[in-house]
Amino acid sequence: MHIIDQIYIDGAFVTPHGEELFELFNPATAQVIGRVRLADAEDARRAIAAARRAFPAFSGTDKSVRSAMLRRMHEAVRARADDLTEAVIEEYGAPVSRSRWMAEHAADVLLQAAELLDSYDFQRRAGSAEVVMTPLGVAGLITPWNSNAGFICGKLAAAIAAGCTAVIKPSEMSALQTRIVTEALHQAGLPPGVFNIVTGRGETVGAEITTHPDVAKISFTGSTAVGKSILRAGAETLKRVTLELGGKSPVLILDDANLAQAVPLALQAGFINSGQACIAGTRILVPRERLAEVEALARSAVEQTRAGDPRDPATAIGPMVSRKQWERVQRYIRIGIDEGARLLAGGEGLPQGLPQGSQAGWFVRPTVFSGVSNDMTIAREEIFGPVLAIIPYRDEEEAIAIANDTQYGLQAYVLSSDPARARAVAARIEAGRVLINTLAHEPKAPFGGFKQSGIGREYGSFGLEAFLEPKSVLGMHAA
Ligand code: NAD
Repeated sequence: MHIIDQIYIDGAFVTPHGEELFELFNPATAQVIGRVRLADAEDARRAIAAARRAFPAFSGTDKSVRSAMLRRMHEAVRARADDLTEAVIEEYGAPVSRSRWMAEHAADVLLQAAELLDSYDFQRRAGSAEVVMTPLGVAGLITPWNSNAGFICGKLAAAIAAGCTAVIKPSEMSALQTRIVTEALHQAGLPPGVFNIVTGRGETVGAEITTHPDVAKISFTGSTAVGKSILRAGAETLKRVTLELGGKSPVLILDDANLAQAVPLALQAGFINSGQACIAGTRILVPRERLAEVEALARSAVEQTRAGDPRDPATAIGPMVSRKQWERVQRYIRIGIDEGARLLAGGEGLPQGLPQGSQAGWFVRPTVFSGVSNDMTIAREEIFGPVLAIIPYRDEEEAIAIANDTQYGLQAYVLSSDPARARAVAARIEAGRVLINTLAHEPKAPFGGFKQSGIGREYGSFGLEAFLEPKSVLGMHAA
């Protein structure tokens, strides 16, 4: 049984003022594996005060000092990659290869920020003015459970690179990962107060951070509903806000696509991170005349997609993170059936061959609906599980119209054997990222959403500038 009863404030592990105990589960077995003592609003205030005290000195450091810090943080997190992989499997249930990637990603984002910092110029000219990119102040960083360690490190990396100090509120459901990351970052030896980590509930710790007048900036990743409430909460003190929210990403299979490659790629895009991914390609848009071919290929690809024990290397889809999430996904499968979508694969209940009853983990059958129209609930709402919708289209114009007919705009995929044509389609898609014939990530490119998928960008220079304010100094140079 894991007992986590400390948070991290002002460079030290301390007992929270909050007294609430929160249970951690292994989603593959539905068994309790730990207890976390949660921080409360008073802890959040202490953390904010520590970050505020640290800001004047830290914001004045040379970027070479901060780059060296980021490199130490990278080394320290990388050294804990095995522990972190184990924690991701145990408390989140990501399949082993994904868990390993998530642990390495958490370390890599720190090094990427250091490299960016080395080449980033904080000073530039605009006419006769000197423009100085200036750190915003104390940043509040709030993360979700589906990539907790990665977002702690990614957001903190950008804040540190910019010269901001930080108060981090990780997901309360990811406390094992948070403990390992905190221990590693402590080893990196940053000045006290530069970063503080307070695991607690969104309604208490999160709410305090998003309303506190000493917090200048919020970087939040999570649901669109909570993102909107954070924007409202931050309005009173005009906080700068970066929101990375939900998605309902389209996968456009063009009529010239090599289906033997495109269909497995589309399913991989949809089932990524066990379907618990904001970037998941959950709407697969298929030319009507090739629908039968796509369905046959999709059926056989799903048959080969194993949902089960995350420790088994053959597993592609792990359990849902919680009972609540499992029930949510089941509800959407039921809605899909009730609204008249055709079940091509999967369906309600647990996958075959896994423990049932009280021993059952929160596993979902990989599910693909076909004959979906874009106005059905399963095509409009983010399900956050391995449930995909195949939507037939008439021609390219209609495909683009369907792709854009959504409140979201985080990511899109275009699959075609003609790169120039795919590029032209990509130009017309309303999304922050369009991936052509690939699932690869580019850490130097900005990441974030159009429309209700968010505000602002993370990663690369755009992500860094989200923690900076340009200050123009005039009168230094003749015009
Ligand atoms: P969530 O919105 O429920 O919670 C996210 C975080 O916000 C948690 O730490 C939570 O405790 C905190 N929170 C909750 N209420 C709050 C409040 N009132 N004030 C401040 N903080 C509060 O999301 P989740 O269930 O943890 O994660 C799943 C969601 O995250 C999905 O909708 C998914 O699409 C989204 N997501 C987006 C991205 C992206 O980059 N766009 C990436 C991953 C996940």
